[in-house]
Amino acid sequence: MRDILNELGLGSDSFGASAGAPIETHGDWLDSFAPGDGSKIGRVKMATLDDYEVVMKKTLGVFEKWRALPAPQRGEIVREMGNALRAKKKALGALVALEMGKIRAEGEGEVQEMIDIADFAVGLSRQIYGQVIASERPLHRLTEQWHPLGCVGIISAFNFPVAVWSWNAFIAAVCGDVMVWKPSFKTPLCAIAVQKIVDEVLAKHNMLGVMSLVIGPNETIGERLIHDERVPLISATGSTRMGQHVGQVVAKRFGRSLLELGGNNALVVMDDANQDLALRAVLFGAVGTAGQRCTSTRRLLVHKTIASGFVDKLVKAYDQVKIGNPLAEGTLMGPLIDTDAVASFTRALEQVKAQGGEILRGGKRLTGDNYPGGCYVEPAIVRAKADMQIVREETFAPILYIITVDSLEEAIRINNDVPQGLSSSIFTESMRNAERWVSAMGSDCGIANVNVGTSGAEIGGAFGGEKHTGGGREAGSDSWKAYMRRQTQTVNWSTALPLAQGIQFL
Ligand code: NAD
Repeated sequence: MRDILNELGLGSDSFGASAGAPIETHGDWLDSFAPGDGSKIGRVKMATLDDYEVVMKKTLGVFEKWRALPAPQRGEIVREMGNALRAKKKALGALVALEMGKIRAEGEGEVQEMIDIADFAVGLSRQIYGQVIASERPLHRLTEQWHPLGCVGIISAFNFPVAVWSWNAFIAAVCGDVMVWKPSFKTPLCAIAVQKIVDEVLAKHNMLGVMSLVIGPNETIGERLIHDERVPLISATGSTRMGQHVGQVVAKRFGRSLLELGGNNALVVMDDANQDLALRAVLFGAVGTAGQRCTSTRRLLVHKTIASGFVDKLVKAYDQVKIGNPLAEGTLMGPLIDTDAVASFTRALEQVKAQGGEILRGGKRLTGDNYPGGCYVEPAIVRAKADMQIVREETFAPILYIITVDSLEEAIRINNDVPQGLSSSIFTESMRNAERWVSAMGSDCGIANVNVGTSGAEIGGAFGGEKHTGGGREAGSDSWKAYMRRQTQTVNWSTALPLAQGIQFL
């Protein structure tokens, strides 16, 4: 553990704020624990509201300088950040595994996602295109140009403690914005480690404060950030409950919010599916990251004619999954984030039974010497009905509900009949089924896949979901537009003053 922290320049005590360099903080101590064995990794002195003010002033202070820098030059700085992350990929990936509990390969995959989005942002820095529109007036030029918004508040969830920040930060940075990050209090050291890496790059360019960090309680620091009129955009990733609150607060002050919230993702296996592919996709989607991805597979909608054979194979595949220390070689599933998450897993399975579901496999808390710290569980497979209340909710744990369907129509109806709308997949060899799934008459989710599982999106596409998932879009495609303001510009280079719509006034 010490080696990982040393390589990332982390001591056992850290300040919970930075605007280019750590800022002395004056709040309570926050302990960081490793869910893999319950040990304390370090502690962070949290920020007070006065400390927040210091961070915000420094961040806003550098905005004018940053926005004046040409976008491709901002991109060059992001390129250096991507390279710095390449150099630290193993150590940062290991810290993610240590503090969040996902396995090392997934921790490193998360850092790779940061590197990929940095590359994407470098390219984007030369492609922030506006439009030229045909003006109806002679000798007028009508254009649209994109300008930076100002300061972006980034609120991130525990389960992607570093990548989600980078999806926002690298895109916002090339757009000319500055930003303040409020990470999950469950993964503060990951945030401090990332901040140190980018601070070193920003220091070289005398741009300290473009990316800042503030760690503190939701009730003080979180609330201050979302209410802060100096922050025109809040990009918040987390539970639907959090997003409902943040969305209302930000809307009330006419700020913008980009909400990336909970999912309840279904994977359909049709009778003509390649079952080997489907099996691997379900296994990774439901068990990977211990079911703690927003895109985790939570509902398996399997055609009735293949259901029993497919579920038998799935149970056997679950039996092969090695559960244990996320940093150990060969582990496929680590612990849940904390004992509260274990309690919510257990509670959900009690509700399954009370609501008429049947646990086919797993569902117990794992104890004993191989499972120190109290956060390990057996992933559960449950026979369920689509309309059970617990099936309609997101439980952030490895519970897979098996629901049999008679037809594609029924699968689509059940897929869409939940409040959430993030990711969805179908496995089929039929072109008609596949096209229907991704058509307007198919899945209503932000992400609709064919012969690809629900979890593990590429950064090149826009990422996000509909309905109670919040409607935000992050990462690739034209998501960058969320971080900028659009200005419509009319330049009259004639010697007359024609009015629009041909109006004669004087
Ligand atoms: P959470 O809602 O408990 O916390 C998320 C973040 O919101 C944390 O940083 C938390 O401190 C902050 N927060 C909470 N209340 C706040 C307030 N009043 N003001 C300001 N900030 C506040 O979520 P979590 O347990 O960390 O993460 C799991 C959830 O996140 C799941 O629902 C998962 O689906 C969702 N998630 C969604 C996506 C996505 O892209 N759609 C990605 C990752 C996680």
